[in-house]
Order: sequence, then C-alpha cells, then structure tokens
Amino acid sequence: QHNSSILWSEPGLNLKVSPAQIRRLASQVDGTRLWESYLRPILIERLPGTKGSLAVQQHITSTLTSLSAGWSIDLDSFQSPTPRGQVTFTNIIATLDPAARRRLLLACHYDSKALPPDPLAPERVFVGASDSAVPCAMILELATSLDAQLRSFKQQKLPVTLQLVFFDGEESFEEWTTTDSLYGSRHLAELMANTPLAAASTHATMIQAVDLFVLLDLLGGPDPLIANHFDNTARWFDRLIAAEKRLHRQGLLSSHPSEQAYFRKDVYLGPVQDDHIPFLHKGVPVVHIIATPFPQFWHKMDDTEENMHRPTVENLTKIVAVFLAEYLGF
Ligand SMILES: [Zn+2]
Repeated sequence: QHNSSILWSEPGLNLKVSPAQIRRLASQVDGTRLWESYLRPILIERLPGTKGSLAVQQHITSTLTSLSAGWSIDLDSFQSPTPRGQVTFTNIIATLDPAARRRLLLACHYDSKALPPDPLAPERVFVGASDSAVPCAMILELATSLDAQLRSFKQQKLPVTLQLVFFDGEESFEEWTTTDSLYGSRHLAELMANTPLAAASTHATMIQAVDLFVLLDLLGGPDPLIANHFDNTARWFDRLIAAEKRLHRQGLLSSHPSEQAYFRKDVYLGPVQDDHIPFLHKGVPVVHIIATPFPQFWHKMDDTEENMHRPTVENLTKIVAVFLAEYLGF
C-alpha cells in the first residue's frame, strides 16, 4: 500500500504565480500548433497493435524528443489476451528527470475504440477526437509551450519532476469489464508497483513516487463540466478552479462566459471508470479532469474534429499550464 505520509511533502508549490506570469503562461500556449501539428496526426484509427497506433506512438515520441528539456522516454510494451485474441499494447512514459524522488504524473490514453462500422457509411472509422486525441494533443502542447521553463526546472535538480504517460488499451474491445478495459494502465500500475525507484537513498517503488496522478479524458467538446471526484485531492482541484478564475479575470480565456465555467464543485454525477483506477487502488492520489456528463458524441462516429470546440481546448490547456507552473513552482 502507498503510504503517502512517508514520502509526502508539499512540492515546489508556488501559489504566488503573479498576474504577469499568468499572462506569460497563457501566451505561450499556441492553439494553432496544438491543433494543426499535434491534434491532426492523432485523428486516425489507432487500435492497439496496429499501424495507426504505431504512427501515433511515433508522433508522440518524436514531438517530445524534439524539445530542449530532454525527456527520457520509455516504452512499456506487452501482450495480453483480449476478446480479439492476443494483442500487443504499448504505453509511452516520458520522464523529465528520472533521478527525481517524486513525480507529478500527467496522463491520457492514445488508443481509439473499436466501433462496429456504420451500415450507412461503412468506410467511416472512429477517430475519438475527445476520446482521447485532444487530451494527448493538450499534453504535447503543454510540454512544448513550457519547454524553456521545464528545461531550467530540470537543471535545478529538485526532488519533484514531471512524468507524462500516454496509455494504450484504455478502451474495451467488447462490453466494458474488469478484464476487457484499462489494459495499459493495469499493466503499468503493476509494473511501477514492482519496480524500485532508481533514485539513490530511497527504498520506494515507482508508484510510491507518484505524488499526484492527473488524468485528462473526454475533453474537446464545448461547455465541459468537470467535477471534483476525490476528497483527498480537493485542494488540487481548488487550484484548477483558481487558475480558471484568474485567467478569466485577466481576460486570457475566449468563449468563456463566466469565471467558473468548467471546474465545479457543485456538480457530481458519480464515479467514472478510467485509467486512474489501477493507480487509485494502489493508493495514488488522483485528480480526474473529465467532462461529466460525457459528451453527446461519446463512443459515436461523430466524436470528430468538427465537433470539437477550439477555444475550449485552448482555455483548458492554459488552465493546466498554470496548474503545472504552480505545482512545480516555476
Ligand atoms: Zn472511450
């Protein structure tokens, strides 16, 4: 079990991010780059173990290796039985400083769901724009827009670092069950629980080093409502609320009618099964950034680029940028 009291201390928390820093962070987020360079290449069918999956893996890893911060990239490839037979899955893990004793883990899934063909349009494929191409593109844009800050942050050799995880096999092949779903996150949580942290002077495992697991999913549609799911991380959810309000008050969000439009503590529609579950079960604190209710196009062929709302995606990326800057203390 994860004993957070042993390892936990507040990270380089900087709650005094100034208005000028907020303006700078917002201005570094490039919505065109996010959309055209990062999102479009992911909007293909990307079933685990296929050519499409490999193309997206290469897109993610080549983007991260092109940055100056110097990400260490690990591929966690494994085979698992599925209702469709033996399938190869590959999680992508990028760690800013593998020597750090603690990690803020930011995650999404990059596989797409296998949907039966639409009889009226048999050539159409499911591209899962919100599920979860947009969250993947947001994470790539965050790594790019914060590249200079992440580079100097890493040079300070602080105890906390940033880890990005792109899970494979989140989706079930048939009906969602505990064995047909979450292939990648179940595998990685088990692997991290059985792998000692390389950092000297600790006996901790990789999973014990995860301070906080922030999961993005089902984002990209207009007017998302994002509820707080966990009491033990409510103080981090409060930072997201505060970031949204500060960006709004500084006029840095667009198509954003009220200062608390997305992150809300007054809505809760119940728990959601997602890639955080295997980590949650091992005691990792979780913040789940997911739209509830799910978008209308959820697991439908029209979860497409046309139904995404660009200003919302840019706004959410700015909010998470401010959150990362506060958490990591830059
Ligand atoms: Zn899905």
